Amino acid sequence: MKGRALIAGGSLGGLFAANLLRELGWEVDVFEKVGDDLASRGAGIGTHAELVAVLAKLGIAMDERLGVAAGERICIDRAGRELYRMHWGHTMSAWANVYRPLKDRFPADRYHFGKSLSRFSSDAESVVAHFDDGSSARGELLVGADGLRSAVRAQLFPGLEPAYGGYVAWRAIVEEDALAPALRDGLGNAYWFVIPPGEMMLCYQVPAKDPGRAAPARDWNVVWYRPVGAARLADFCTDASGRGHGTAIPPPLIRADVVAQLKEDAHALLAPQMAELVERSRPFFQAIFDVESPRLAVGRVALLGDAAFVARPHVGMGVTKAALDALCLSNSLGQSADLFSGLERYGALRGEFGRRCVARARRLGAYIEARSRPELAWTPAQLDQSPQRVLRETAASLSEIPEFAP
Ligand SMILES: Cc1cc2nc3c(=O)[nH]c(=O)nc-3n(C[C@H](O)[C@H](O)[C@H](O)COP(=O)(O)OP(=O)(O)OC[C@H]3O[C@@H](n4cnc5c(N)ncnc54)[C@H](O)[C@@H]3O)c2cc1C
Repeated sequence: MKGRALIAGGSLGGLFAANLLRELGWEVDVFEKVGDDLASRGAGIGTHAELVAVLAKLGIAMDERLGVAAGERICIDRAGRELYRMHWGHTMSAWANVYRPLKDRFPADRYHFGKSLSRFSSDAESVVAHFDDGSSARGELLVGADGLRSAVRAQLFPGLEPAYGGYVAWRAIVEEDALAPALRDGLGNAYWFVIPPGEMMLCYQVPAKDPGRAAPARDWNVVWYRPVGAARLADFCTDASGRGHGTAIPPPLIRADVVAQLKEDAHALLAPQMAELVERSRPFFQAIFDVESPRLAVGRVALLGDAAFVARPHVGMGVTKAALDALCLSNSLGQSADLFSGLERYGALRGEFGRRCVARARRLGAYIEARSRPELAWTPAQLDQSPQRVLRETAASLSEIPEFAP
């Protein structure tokens, strides 16, 4: 069966779905809230063989523009001494490097910027997406790929709110060219960890985003998970004029004193080479949330990617999960006699996977959450932040993860 699919959200999840449904013969329109190209956003992402396979299905190769191989995972202490090392042949990529080919592959005149879905309505024959600007679009299927704060999810499940995990991820990209040669050589192509009490800092190489730089240019992607209680998060999200931005402040508005404190803490808590990376960065932070949708398909509406489930980033899987959701949606629609049985199949298969992802990621982040919520009961296993455990569990490929076994 075929028809017109309306996709709310034109990030990676929306673009995977848009391209795959188009391959299936659907007429597809993407409606993205943001007014212009998204390529300037995002940072590093981990990849999995399953993500590479979905990209390949769309004719996109994981070549050196898209991916950089990390050789080993190494954990060092505050003084820079090695604590643990494991071999890990894995490809790291960057958000924009996956976005760009997916976006370029989709017809520009069917990708509508500046269209924010406010609500939808449906009847037996169709679904209508209504946008903030008063316009609307009618189709046979609506896909909510509108991320953490999904308007589609909010309408399907009123009152279901993302749950704050009690910590934030500071993130930054540092151009390799900006690093002193000794630091660059010392970092090599390893995936580095420092694990201060109740925290996790990591960094790895990603392909450079700027196409103007000589290939194969590299950047360093920095992520530092730090416990931040709810009151302090509200302060972090207050700009210099005193205006609060809820739980997500736009990066340019993060106050200078909040960044200065981070850099001071880097010198106190991290190995010198990691502190130098933080010092040279223009960091921003994202609060870490969990979301579990009770169902992924209701009537003519399906949720996918972060609109469906948000797992904390320790499973390194947000983009892979979004790609696999989109693949399962298109396979389910392709194989089923009608839309509703296709959506039911999709919901059953991806719902279970999403719930397992959220649970695993919550477990991997428990020792960080515990720091800002000491009043909760935590087991010794949850508080285990030994380098062996952290490096091994966050490195596992999908096929090795016990929680995902059929
Ligand atoms: C610190 C951190 C590290 C991460 N590391 C990794 C990693 O290593 N590997 C990995 O795979 N993933 C990682 N992720 C997760 C990854 O970024 C997301 O899971 C992934 O991008 C999911 O894509 P999505 O399209 O579902 O949602 P999003 O990328 O959030 O996109 C949603 C889109 O919908 C648009 N939108 C929102 N509301 C509306 C509306 N009402 N109407 C129309 N459009 C709307 C938004 O503007 C946005 O473009 C990380 C996340 C964080 C926070």
